[in-house]
Amino acid sequence: MKNEFMNVPIFSGDGKVHFEERKIPTPGDNQLLIQAKANLLCGSDRNQFYNGSPQCIPGHEGAGVIVEKGKNAKFEIGMKGAVYLYDYCHKCRSCQLGLTNQCLHKNCDYGFNVDGAFCEYYLVNDYVFFPVDESVDVINATLLLDVMGTGGHASKRAQLIHKDIQSVLINGAGPIGLGLLAMSKLTFAKDLPVLINDVKSSRLPLAEKMGGLPIDLSKQSLEEGIEQHGIKNPDVAIDATGKAIARKNALNVLAKRGVLVMVGNGEGLEFEQYPDMGAPERSILGSEYFSYNEMEANHELLKNNQEYLSQIITHEYKIKDVQKSYEHFFSPDSDAGKIAVVHN
Ligand SMILES: [Zn+2]
Ligand SMILES: [Zn+2]
Repeated sequence: MKNEFMNVPIFSGDGKVHFEERKIPTPGDNQLLIQAKANLLCGSDRNQFYNGSPQCIPGHEGAGVIVEKGKNAKFEIGMKGAVYLYDYCHKCRSCQLGLTNQCLHKNCDYGFNVDGAFCEYYLVNDYVFFPVDESVDVINATLLLDVMGTGGHASKRAQLIHKDIQSVLINGAGPIGLGLLAMSKLTFAKDLPVLINDVKSSRLPLAEKMGGLPIDLSKQSLEEGIEQHGIKNPDVAIDATGKAIARKNALNVLAKRGVLVMVGNGEGLEFEQYPDMGAPERSILGSEYFSYNEMEANHELLKNNQEYLSQIITHEYKIKDVQKSYEHFFSPDSDAGKIAVVHN
């Protein structure tokens, strides 16, 4: 018998979080009540932490256990898994092709406009739940979301255009950059050279430990760094910084037929048809989150590479310290990859 009430963190703005008591909801038709176990912090939570989240309790990178189910809901009580962000419609032309990240009529985003995984108990429609194998730790199940999902999707976007990728360059060695690094290795080939740069030296040791070829932009130029690792021009560049200058520098060093994939949101990109794009036939692609159905293959990768991938989660906080966890995550000299906030 579960409790009737729970304590939930209220994000009131100015980087302040306090707790209030709320009633635990009851699942309706096709709904699951998830007991959240963990949620990873994300750069896109910045607005909720600093400006408040009056609409809902945040947490869009959550995993937990099904504790109750509504009528006709699929999956069984006791199953653990991750919750996909977009409550997609199933019907639009994007969803019909399985491209749920491009749904034209999505109902909501869990953790952005309906309650997410910082609630100890929250409701989801069954089709956004992805169950994981017994062997997958429930905290690691969160890796299926922005880390592996977003990272893997960007790699696959590049593969649509380029059929013989021999080297990759990643801009940014923060949480998303580390996901891109891991998924480039796991999607293309473990021994594929993956260069990874950052202006923050403190981020590079973990990237190197995970098999990346580090380029410290606080000490050398991008060209110098690439050359130092014995690579001439990478075939693919994936940008996690959202910075115009980083994107332009990456475009400039791409090989012929090179592909730039833009994952980080933020600034733009200026380029010339000649010489940047036309003659070398380069491509620039956007990439946004990932499709629900990509989780199946990523789940196999997670099962087989759990130790490697879980290195990306560098810190863990209890839910009562969620404010502290964000202060750590958003501090300018943060040493964190992904931070997990766990329920008791
Ligand atoms: Zn996220
Ligand atoms: Zn749709």
